[in-house]
Amino acid sequence: MIFKYYAKSLVSLNNMYLEFSQKLKKILQDATNCIIVTHKNPDADALGSSMALCRFLVKLGKKTKVILPNSPPDYLKWMIDKNNVISHEKSSEKTKKYLLKSDVIFGLDFNSLKRIGNLNKEIENINVPIIMIDHHESPESFSSLFLSRPNIGSTSEMIYNILKLINDRLIDKEIATYIYSGILTDTGSFRYPLTSGTTHYIISELFKKNINHTDIHKKIYDNFSFERIHLLAVALKNFKLLQKLGVAYTILSKENLEKYNFKKGDTEGFVNFGLQIKDVQVSVIFIEDVYEGIIKISFRSKERVDVNKFAKKYFNGGGHKNASGGFSNDSIKKTEKKFISSIEEFLRL
Ligand code: 5GP
Ligand code: MN
Repeated sequence: MIFKYYAKSLVSLNNMYLEFSQKLKKILQDATNCIIVTHKNPDADALGSSMALCRFLVKLGKKTKVILPNSPPDYLKWMIDKNNVISHEKSSEKTKKYLLKSDVIFGLDFNSLKRIGNLNKEIENINVPIIMIDHHESPESFSSLFLSRPNIGSTSEMIYNILKLINDRLIDKEIATYIYSGILTDTGSFRYPLTSGTTHYIISELFKKNINHTDIHKKIYDNFSFERIHLLAVALKNFKLLQKLGVAYTILSKENLEKYNFKKGDTEGFVNFGLQIKDVQVSVIFIEDVYEGIIKISFRSKERVDVNKFAKKYFNGGGHKNASGGFSNDSIKKTEKKFISSIEEFLRL
C-alpha cells in the first residue's frame, strides 16, 4: 500500500516537471535575452538555483544575466560568476538596461514581489513573461508560468529536475556544484523533514558529474571571519529560555554587531543553536539592522510548530513551516515584549 502510494506520488511529481519543462521549452524557443532574479540577501539556494539556471541557459546559447536585489554575503561570493551577475543596489542603470532588453524573466526562490525589494518597481514596468520557480508556502500569483512546490526542500532541487528534462547532457560539474550547494544548505545538511529519497537520489546523480562535496562543505561552512566566531559567542550568551513554552531566543544589538565588525552573512546559522536545547520547539534571533532601520528576525522550529504562520501573523514575514523570517519596525525592547506575548498566544491556540 505504502509503495503504491509512493509510486503514485512520484509519477504525479514527474508529470508536473514534465508539463512545466515542455511549456518552458516553448517559451525559450522564442527568447534570446533571459534574466534571472532571486530574493534579497540571497542564500546558497537562491544563488545555487540562479547560477545553475544561468550557466545552463548560456550553454543553450541564450544571453543571460542574474540580477540580485543586493550583494551576496562574502562567504558565498565564490558562487558568483561576475560576468553574468549584476547587483541592482550597486548598478541600477545597468539593471534597467538589461531588463528592457529581456524576452523572459525568471524569478527563483521567492513567493512574493516584496522579497526582491526595490527591484520590484523595475520589473513591474516590463511586459515579458515571468516564470516563477519556488518552494515557499503561500505564493502570491504574479507570473505567467508558476511552479510552486512547498513540499520540496529547495529551489535547487526543483531546478535540477527541470534542467534534467530539458537537456541532461548540459549539466556539468559547475552546474552540479551550484545545485548541491543549494540543496545542502536548504535541507540543513540533509536533516530537515523535507529531505526525501528523491533528494538523495539527485545527490547521487550530482556525484556522477564529479562534484567535490568536501570542498563545497568547506567553502560554505568553514569560510567565516575570526570576528564572526566572537559574535557567535555573544549570540549564544544572549540566549534566553521561555521554559514553559519550549521557546529560546537571542538578540544581537547594534552595539554587539559593531563591536565585532559585523558583515552580511556573519549571523547565518546562529538561530539554529537554540534548537539544541532539550525540549525547545522554537528558536528565534532578533538582529538590529541599522541600515534598514528594522529588527530582522529569523524563526526556526521543530516538527509541528508552524513558524511560517507565526511570522506571517505577527511579524510581516513568512517562509517555510520550520524556517521563516520577518521583521519589526519597533525598538528591540518593544519587539521582544511583543514576541513574548504573541508566541505565548500562538502556542496556546
Ligand atoms: P532566514 O531566517 O534564513 O533569513 O530565512 C528563513 C526562510 O524564511 C527563508 O526561506 C527565507 O526566504 C524566508 N524569509 C526570511 N525573511 C523573510 C521575510 O521577511 N518575509 C518572507 N515572506 N519570508 C522570509
Ligand atoms: Mn530556498
